[in-house]
Amino acid sequence: MTSPPRFPFRHAAWKVAAWLLALALVGCSGALGYHSFERRGVASLQSDVRHRLELFSSAVEGMIQRLEDVPATVQLSEEIQRLFHAPRRAAVRERADRYLERLNAFMGGIAIYVLDERGVIVASSARNGLRTLTEEDFSFRPYFQEALSGRVGRHFAISLVGNRPGYFVSHPIRDGARVVGVAVIMINLDPINQIWDMLGAPALLADTNGVVILSSDPAWTYTTLQELPIERRVDLQLSRMYNRMPLPRFPLPVELQVNPETLAIHGILQRANRYLGFPEVAQIVSGRSINGMDWRVMLFTDVDSARRDALLAGAVSATGAAFLILLVLFLAQRRRIHRHRRESERLLEQANLSLEHKVGERTAALTLANAQLVREVAERKQTEATLRATQGELVHAGKMAVLGRMAAGITHELTQPLGGVRTFAGNAMEFAKRQDLESVQQNLEIIARLTERMGTIIHPLRSFARRTDPALSFVDVGQCIEHALFLYQTQLAHLGVVVDNRTSGEQLAAWCDAPRLEQVLVNLIGNAIDAMAEAPQKQLVLSAERAPAAEEALAADGRAYELRIDVQDTGCGLPPDFASHLFEPFYTTKQKGLGLGLTISRDIVQDFGGALRAWDRDGPGACFSIYLPCAPT
Ligand code: ADP
Repeated sequence: MTSPPRFPFRHAAWKVAAWLLALALVGCSGALGYHSFERRGVASLQSDVRHRLELFSSAVEGMIQRLEDVPATVQLSEEIQRLFHAPRRAAVRERADRYLERLNAFMGGIAIYVLDERGVIVASSARNGLRTLTEEDFSFRPYFQEALSGRVGRHFAISLVGNRPGYFVSHPIRDGARVVGVAVIMINLDPINQIWDMLGAPALLADTNGVVILSSDPAWTYTTLQELPIERRVDLQLSRMYNRMPLPRFPLPVELQVNPETLAIHGILQRANRYLGFPEVAQIVSGRSINGMDWRVMLFTDVDSARRDALLAGAVSATGAAFLILLVLFLAQRRRIHRHRRESERLLEQANLSLEHKVGERTAALTLANAQLVREVAERKQTEATLRATQGELVHAGKMAVLGRMAAGITHELTQPLGGVRTFAGNAMEFAKRQDLESVQQNLEIIARLTERMGTIIHPLRSFARRTDPALSFVDVGQCIEHALFLYQTQLAHLGVVVDNRTSGEQLAAWCDAPRLEQVLVNLIGNAIDAMAEAPQKQLVLSAERAPAAEEALAADGRAYELRIDVQDTGCGLPPDFASHLFEPFYTTKQKGLGLGLTISRDIVQDFGGALRAWDRDGPGACFSIYLPCAPT
């Protein structure tokens, strides 16, 4: 049985703390997994975005660069040079227009045109389209002013004809060192709108003013990413760059940072967390400048996909941590169970050893006790055998004592027939001398009857005196009583005792040994005769019957004896304290008594499984009762 823990509360607190620690570990590893995967996801997104931006800007560069050197070549053509030598001649202007038309058709721009030093169109690839503007003054356009100053001008602007967005590149046309005109190409930006898909996310192109000139989302176009100073706004109004003013602000709250070295643009768009409300990054804004231009392309990438992956990774790492903790717990538990099992086995082995030792000791003690017991049993058997032999001797001695007492009576009994034998033998001899053979025969017949009578006197005595071993069998009680009375026949008659044998003619069977039962009866009858020696009235009553129920209580050991033989006399009766020593060995009140008769009789009856009791009768005399078990059927 396991004893309860000594400090149950402390034990429970430790348990709770361990579980909390395990939970914290699981939570931490989930959070770590989430953050590290989110960072890696965002970094991978950014690298992907950089790659796309590079591709995109290369594509845009390719589109622009293919055309931006065109104005520089215009002044080299003969038609244009002639035009500046004879600007008024219609034929020259016609040829110049056709040249520009051919060149534009070949290069694929929106238009190529030439301005004079006042900013008025002198030749154009789209003469018809620009005709309405022939006298228009383009000097307000920055590309014209740049070129007039001898530099290459380039910027985005919305065309005054057709209101189309375009990229204008201008180049000065010189006559010697003097700038006499400006060649301009308006590059079509529509193809850029076709390649937004390659960025895979909302994107925009902003020019040097921070104005969105092209966008995958039309709502963002012509909005400003930053607040424009007033002078700049005036300039833009004058140059009619966007053909509209004022320009609205970009709709998303984006903060941009430009890396001065790489010219990379970074920004983030925040939103409130859907469940917990804290601000979190919703989109990453990445951008870069397009080489050789003052444009910036910007891409708005959603981080939700990276975050979903990170969430999954966080769940996986939390599960992994939980699994590891469970594994550690499982291993620890298994170790503990092994330890307990080893401990139990050790205790069991110890208990076994101690048990074996005890069993050994006990077996040795038992073997010793058994040997002792066997010895004692053998000794007891020996003692019992000796006792039985002694008892047999005693019984025999008792018989001899009875016979001794009877000797006088027997002698007297035999004297008379013996005298008769002697007399009739003398007579027979006398008649033989006289040759009176008939009388001889009569006398011999009388002698034969007398010897027969003597034989009947001696025969019961011989059978009584014979030494026999006790053997239990069916015994006729009436017959035993007859035999016992027969031995005292002469003595009873001589003393004038009236014998009342109530058992004659009755069949009562007992389970005992006949010679020994006779010996008991002879003892009791002998004592009765002795007790009645001086009595005026001498009566001996012998009776036997099945013991009534009331007698059962009288049995000393509580057994139900079924046959009772009573020997009653009218003698002196029993002394008052007879019960205490009547059956003691050597107790006698007679001068020549041995005091063994009743002791031997009691032992014989007890050997049969019965009992011997003595009663002082109400009238004169005593009664001795023999209780015997009935013969088995
Ligand atoms: P013993 O006959 O040699 O004395 P018993 O053992 O036979 O030895 O008897 C013991 C004594 O019991 C007798 O001496 C006698 O006093 C008493 N006793 C036995 N039978 C009777 C009887 N029927 N009446 C009176 N006393 C008896």
